[in-house]
Amino acid sequence: MHRRITGKLVIATHNPGKLAEMKELLAPYGIEAVSAGELGLPEPDETGNDFRSNAAIKAIAAAQATKLPSFADDSGIVVDALDGAPGIYSARWAGPAKDFAVAMAQIERLLQERGATTPDKRTAHFVSALCVAWPDDHLEEVEARVDGTLVWPPRGTAGFGYDPMFLPNGHDRTFGEMTSIEKHGLPPLGLGLSHRARAFVKLAEICLEPR
Ligand code: IMP
Repeated sequence: MHRRITGKLVIATHNPGKLAEMKELLAPYGIEAVSAGELGLPEPDETGNDFRSNAAIKAIAAAQATKLPSFADDSGIVVDALDGAPGIYSARWAGPAKDFAVAMAQIERLLQERGATTPDKRTAHFVSALCVAWPDDHLEEVEARVDGTLVWPPRGTAGFGYDPMFLPNGHDRTFGEMTSIEKHGLPPLGLGLSHRARAFVKLAEICLEPR
């Protein structure tokens, strides 16, 4: 049986961008979102082997610490020609300086090394795994992806991370060239295009009720 989220929800992230996005997505449901950062909770080590387990590790740690339902996400980019890299290590490829120009250049270098020069060899997808954990160990988990190809040089300055390199299938602009509403916004405002928007729609279906 799926469980509904009511009242207060801890957002288990220390990333202000993710927190703002989640607060926006949750607002129509009357959920009061409070962040792990605001509560001073420590960040657990992401020791899982996949997106889903890393999201669960973060959500469970926050639920146990706060005794409140807690939400976490884990995401990244999976490049087919690189055997799925950087995958769950997407954030780490940017190094301590969080420099995604460096991370994108590293992907491009490896693609060139492997002769991946045509779009059919440069396929990739973003993944978003979402987990809500309750203090009694109940879990709700969803995952979604958006498929595309990697372009070079990067295009656009919007968004974050690998956005300027990612051209979603069926579109002629990269995520870096789209407005945030186009990329993440849910219909009727946006296209519900991104992996996170798609995962959120799935979570809303099972766990949320519009006010
Ligand atoms: P984490 O989910 O905080 O572990 O970090 C995931 C990493 O994947 C981010 O730091 C970004 O580099 C990358 N990533 C995840 N979602 C997106 C996206 O929507 N656009 C661009 N990069 C993303």
